[in-house]
Amino acid sequence: MNIKNNIDHYRSELGDGCTLIAVSKTHPPEIILQAYEAGQRDFGENKVQELVGKYESLPNDIRWHMIGHLQSNKVKYIVPFVHLIHSVDSEKLLLEINKQAAKINRVVSCLLQVHIAREETKFGFSESEVTALLKSPVITQANHIQINGLMGMATNTEDHNQVKNEFRSLHTLWEQLKSSSLPEHVRMRELSMGMSSDYRLAIEEGSTMVRIGSAIFGERNYPEH
Ligand SMILES: *Cc1c(COP(=O)(O)O)cnc(C)c1O
Repeated sequence: MNIKNNIDHYRSELGDGCTLIAVSKTHPPEIILQAYEAGQRDFGENKVQELVGKYESLPNDIRWHMIGHLQSNKVKYIVPFVHLIHSVDSEKLLLEINKQAAKINRVVSCLLQVHIAREETKFGFSESEVTALLKSPVITQANHIQINGLMGMATNTEDHNQVKNEFRSLHTLWEQLKSSSLPEHVRMRELSMGMSSDYRLAIEEGSTMVRIGSAIFGERNYPEH
């Protein structure tokens, strides 16, 4: 794997309209530094402990993205430094992020994760839950949270049509919300969708952030869960 070449390749392929999040989970700091030296600054991790460790040992101009399921009791460890939490998947989690952010007087940027895949196992709100949440007073009260858009993961399948349809439905929801009247602290700026296997389809369907891991860093050689 030539990490620098991979970073150059994806950044030029994506252009200015789409942010590359280099998903560095399971890879050690010295590997991440190779991407950093190629100019990459946005990195994604899915485990709190690993994220905190890397934050502490790597340059402080890295923008750290939390992309994995986040347990409420671990929120406090990442709130001081995290750049964007992509995986807000419950009202309880949202309230905990708000609470911890209020304690240190920080506004934390978040995306609402929407369940678009067929798999039962993927976390996230349903489309109607997102719409309801954005109308509820909870959002207006959570003034240490800035909601910047939506995130979704498509079904892990070879069926491109299926994947495309799932991304399209998320894009449609995002557009609908964008053109509706949104509460303060909410804007539909980012649409985080697409990984190594499906980022091209995601871009065709309007993604503004792709989260690419194995295609940059190679296969992960120890289990994620
Ligand atoms: C691991 C992960 C990715 C990246 O997956 P690759 O297939 O390695 O590109 C993207 N998004 C989330 C939420 C992940 O956990």
